[in-house]
Amino acid sequence: MGNGLYFGIDVGGTAVKMSLYSSKEDSMVENCSIPSIKNEDENILIGNIVRKMKEMSAEAGVSISEVSGIGIGIPGPVTADGKVLKCANLGWDIVDLTTIIKELTGVENVEAGNDANVAALGEIWKGAAAGYKDAVMVTLGTGVGGGIVIDGHIRAGHRGAAGEIGHITVEPEESEACGCGCRGCLEQYASATGIVDIAKKRFGICKENLTAKDIFDAAKAGDEKALKTVDIFAAYLGTALSNIANVIAPEIFIIGGGVSAAGNIIIEKVMEYYEKNSMYALRDIPARLAKLGNMAGMYGAIKMVIGR
Ligand SMILES: [Zn+2]
Repeated sequence: MGNGLYFGIDVGGTAVKMSLYSSKEDSMVENCSIPSIKNEDENILIGNIVRKMKEMSAEAGVSISEVSGIGIGIPGPVTADGKVLKCANLGWDIVDLTTIIKELTGVENVEAGNDANVAALGEIWKGAAAGYKDAVMVTLGTGVGGGIVIDGHIRAGHRGAAGEIGHITVEPEESEACGCGCRGCLEQYASATGIVDIAKKRFGICKENLTAKDIFDAAKAGDEKALKTVDIFAAYLGTALSNIANVIAPEIFIIGGGVSAAGNIIIEKVMEYYEKNSMYALRDIPARLAKLGNMAGMYGAIKMVIGR
């Protein structure tokens, strides 16, 4: 356990958020952010992160090799043993990230995970699902992401590809392709752009720069077309969650991402369809809005390596 200082690092497409957490104080003692660099040799970005970690640990009065652990979230598939497999968001090919970080820092306790999975772990530790061990988190943003935590641990899956909830097929008759190349993925209806698409294509709602927030606001005000749009979104997502429950049987669902700012209307409508499509043993599972926002990844990264 050592000095109880842990690094949590959340690598995003535009910035890398870094925190130094003290388990003795149960708080972040330092936070900072550096720009992430896309489509460059991965060693440049990794080198920048390690340099910053050295500065931050020096400020806390220790050398980098003395910290108790380093956890890292990456916006792409990461295997259980910490290999990043072709991260399109960073332009990386296959990178054995944990081995590289161990070599550069002298720290043995290093873990890496997919950012959506890591965020789910953060919400289980310090957020909406604190106290639970089995959770599925859905992130509704530009796309639809997913994270699975089983018995307090991230489920990375074969080739790091577990939790890709956004690419569950929910509409086999769809004519347009999803970003993944398939047709009728959940992401095409439950992401911020997906919800706007439903409103435009099925209900002819047209307004310049229409956003998912506009639609939820109108639904709350009782607008019929907006309510129908939300209903279709909820039917796709709620049904998908019931299918997920049939396989994972989580104790709780967490719904996060920018779209979730619409609030409890999402939980109410989605769980209505969840209940309709769930078998008896899986009904009445709680669903909560995520609590930690963009800090979830950092907390989850720390949780991966704490107390090990
Ligand atoms: Zn897809």
